[in-house]
Amino acid sequence: MATLKEVISCTSGYDPEALPVAKANEVIRSFINPVSGVEKPRVRAALGRVLAKDVVSPINVPSHDNSAMDGYAVRNDDLGAGKPVTLTEIGTAYAGREFTGDVKRGECVRVMTGAVMPNNTETVVVQEAVTTNGKRITIPPGQEPGQNRRLAGEDLRKGRPALHAGRMLRPADIGLIASLGIGEVSVRRKLKVAFFSTGDELVSVGKKLKAGEVYDSNRYTLWGMLQRLGCEVIDLGVVRDDPKKLETAFRTAAGVADAVVTSGGVSVGEADFTKPMMAKLGEVVFWKIAMRPGRPMAFGRIRAHGKSAYLFGLPGNPVAVMVTFYHFVRGALLMMMGRNDIDLPLLRAKSETAMRKKPGRTEYQRGILELKSGEWSVRLTGAQGSGILRSMSEANCFVVLGHEQSTVKVGDYVEVMVMDGLV
Ligand code: AMP
Ligand code: MG
Repeated sequence: MATLKEVISCTSGYDPEALPVAKANEVIRSFINPVSGVEKPRVRAALGRVLAKDVVSPINVPSHDNSAMDGYAVRNDDLGAGKPVTLTEIGTAYAGREFTGDVKRGECVRVMTGAVMPNNTETVVVQEAVTTNGKRITIPPGQEPGQNRRLAGEDLRKGRPALHAGRMLRPADIGLIASLGIGEVSVRRKLKVAFFSTGDELVSVGKKLKAGEVYDSNRYTLWGMLQRLGCEVIDLGVVRDDPKKLETAFRTAAGVADAVVTSGGVSVGEADFTKPMMAKLGEVVFWKIAMRPGRPMAFGRIRAHGKSAYLFGLPGNPVAVMVTFYHFVRGALLMMMGRNDIDLPLLRAKSETAMRKKPGRTEYQRGILELKSGEWSVRLTGAQGSGILRSMSEANCFVVLGHEQSTVKVGDYVEVMVMDGLV
């Protein structure tokens, strides 16, 4: 395992005082390793978990050629070129109940959707297209040979990977696994993530506020974000701005968790006492990231009780903690979980708001994305201060103003990252 120093020495353009977002992620992702440990839950319990091994298909799906429609199964050599043809219906095939006889020239079989194709037939003519007279079925010309037939193995082929390791299992995936007749899957064990808030000014919900005090909201947003990622979450509460107490909390966290996420205590003034304390526990770097919001951040690995944990020291401001979580911690934790699909798509939308922006830093503004006259349009959620949590609550997307981006005028196109997905 490489040390953080080694990883950093391999990163070109590394400047801890003005680190571009992409560089910080490069360092984080080169340093992180996935956790080992595999469990084998039943398929439904595997929803949202990460596959530890490829799922290899033990069968063809579908297992036999079958009809895609209700109609008549016919032989290709009976299809009249340019003329109607009349065939004799000799039986019926249902889904789950096949027609076992052979179909000779001049014959056809009534088939239901999902029925196995009767012997010698290749094509299905939909029932709406034919005219019937008792068992005499007249088929109009223009039928495409092979139409309306589902081929064995067209969905999943025997012996091939149906799903690859590293995939987070979604509803379609657990259905797909069930379609193979598989009842249990190998998934990675859940990631354990401990978190706590730091600050002498923090008060827990339910108590009265005195002047200068604030409720500890970060412990709620962090808890929510970690839950959504599918982690096993360990809440270590509020820790006062006292190096001894902080050290104890970090030691506890390193002993029980794979990763530790903290809020507050990394801004310039506060880092003065957290830096030497963290240096005792392991390898931690303090960064000023070229971004807004969320400039200060600490990253590294700490050790205690013979165990180690990755550390993400996030800024204390309620919006900054969420922005840094989504853009650094989320990807790192997904990597630790063994996920192979980490990065989210950026969409283009027309901006209804002008935004002042200097090149040389990445900004994550909070926006509302809406379809207007057939086009995606985005506007900001009002005041964008890093303490204004309402801007996150009202938003449904981040407007991502990239490192090189300059000022945005009304009507310019910008990149947005949608906060919610369908799956
Ligand atoms: P810090 O990064 O510790 O200097 O904190 C920056 C700002 O965020 C200060 O205004 C803090 O009061 C506020 N803050 C820090 N931690 C929390 C928290 N857990 N919940 C709400 N606000 C916080
Ligand atoms: Mg603080």
